[in-house]
Amino acid sequence: MTLTPSQKAELARTLAALDKQVRDDMRAALLQSGDQKYIDLAGMVHDLGDEAVANELIDLDDALIERHLQELREIEAAKRRVAGGSTNRCIDCNDDIGYERLLAYPVAVRCIVCQGQHEKTRTHEATPRM
Ligand SMILES: [Zn+2]
Repeated sequence: MTLTPSQKAELARTLAALDKQVRDDMRAALLQSGDQKYIDLAGMVHDLGDEAVANELIDLDDALIERHLQELREIEAAKRRVAGGSTNRCIDCNDDIGYERLLAYPVAVRCIVCQGQHEKTRTHEATPRM
């Protein structure tokens, strides 16, 4: 299944909204820290994409900020997939991920079946049954 232009547009909108939300969260987290260096960077969060700002944030070596940056990277990758029209393929089985799933979870790279498998595998890695 190929995404129709209107589905692409809808996904792009969803991703843009998600992107803004993550940046807002990150900005709030920086402001709440009370640390002047963080507060200075909070004003630049919406300019991310600027490598220098991203690198400064990475240098903070803060788990919460790192998680937000990771989310932004996933959103960025999803935007590229939407633009390239390859959004809809599962990276594991190459089946359709499904438009409904993408709308609900636009950064998804796996279909629901493979995602379930993937999470099961990870759980096993975390708690090996010896
Ligand atoms: Zn799959």
